[in-house]
Amino acid sequence: MAAEEYKLPIPAADEASAPFFAGAKERKLMLVRCSQCGQHRLPGRERCADCWSEESEWVEASGRGKLYTFGIMHQQYHPAFAEITPYNYALVELNEGPRLVTNIVDCPNEELRTDMPVEAVYDDVSEETTLVRFRPAK
Ligand SMILES: [Zn+2]
Repeated sequence: MAAEEYKLPIPAADEASAPFFAGAKERKLMLVRCSQCGQHRLPGRERCADCWSEESEWVEASGRGKLYTFGIMHQQYHPAFAEITPYNYALVELNEGPRLVTNIVDCPNEELRTDMPVEAVYDDVSEETTLVRFRPAK
């Protein structure tokens, strides 16, 4: 999608999520990994939920997972969504464990199924921001 055509609200990276968005720009799905126990998590939590360690590092994830659950949004809460309603919103469970709120693309809403294998795609929605979405795995 060309940047000048993108009309939807664009999330802003904060200090905690900046490496995630920088990775997306380079076509990498970045996660936080606990240095003590190896559990992966999304940015925004200072401590590991499993072992409470504060030691962590950013690592590149596989970009693969499965559709954990999804919904189809028919209500238009913002005028910018008029052209894409109804659209899907999805919770993808990554192979590394964390669940990411996203959208499924390259798949009609009627064909979405829980547990379907999906892979990350990278959508440059502006000069600064690339969003991670998912499509059915090839
Ligand atoms: Zn841990």
